[in-house]
Amino acid sequence: MRGGAIRLFSVAGIAVYLHFTWFVIAAFEVTSVAKRYSNPIWGVFEYLALFAIVLLHEFGHAFACRSTGGEVDRIVLWPLGGLAFVRPPPRASAQLWSIAAGPLVNVVLFPALFAVLVALARLRMGLHSDALQFSGSLFTINGVMLIFNLLPLYPLDGGQILRSLLWFRLGPIRSLEIASGVGLAGAIALGIYALYRSSIWAGILSFFLLSQAAAGWQHAKTMRVDEDVACKPAPDDPRLHAPSSER
Ligand SMILES: [Zn+2]
Repeated sequence: MRGGAIRLFSVAGIAVYLHFTWFVIAAFEVTSVAKRYSNPIWGVFEYLALFAIVLLHEFGHAFACRSTGGEVDRIVLWPLGGLAFVRPPPRASAQLWSIAAGPLVNVVLFPALFAVLVALARLRMGLHSDALQFSGSLFTINGVMLIFNLLPLYPLDGGQILRSLLWFRLGPIRSLEIASGVGLAGAIALGIYALYRSSIWAGILSFFLLSQAAAGWQHAKTMRVDEDVACKPAPDDPRLHAPSSER
């Protein structure tokens, strides 16, 4: 256990944790998903497959980060998806590759899942109706995950890709200010949508995005203060005392 998460297994030194809230939401989700199938067990398969795709996406981030010389701590799965705790080196290119590799996994899965769907549709047998529904759901889930993650709203992958691209021209601080500012605006817009549609999911997501974008904004401010401090000589800087000590 670690912060309410259970350690499931580890791959190449990367530990995978499952947050306890996952089980609570899984119970609700599986019940509603199962209605789409003639045999409700497919609802369980679909929910597990959703998180298998999430896990592959997170491993994309983790292995890419490691390839840049960065550190990978762990992957935590929770009801809103997954979080890979990665620390790529502070270079724009390393950040860009570590972030882009996650959605790239979904890009690779896109034609593979489509091929399976087409193959099953060609069989067109009553026996395979649940399998066909399952395959169609996975194709849709992967596509939605790809599009959603590419929204340019920090801290979503799209927002972090935007930040890395801006970093090449504007440096680490200004790029983070702009990306987290766009993320804050997007989170507020999603919050208004959540209130308008009375959507609990959109509300939770908007709260998560808002807090993370605000943390990004705050981090940029701290970096700027640190930079200013580093540029000004400290009061006990030996260079300041040099003339007097030479006397
Ligand atoms: Zn991602």
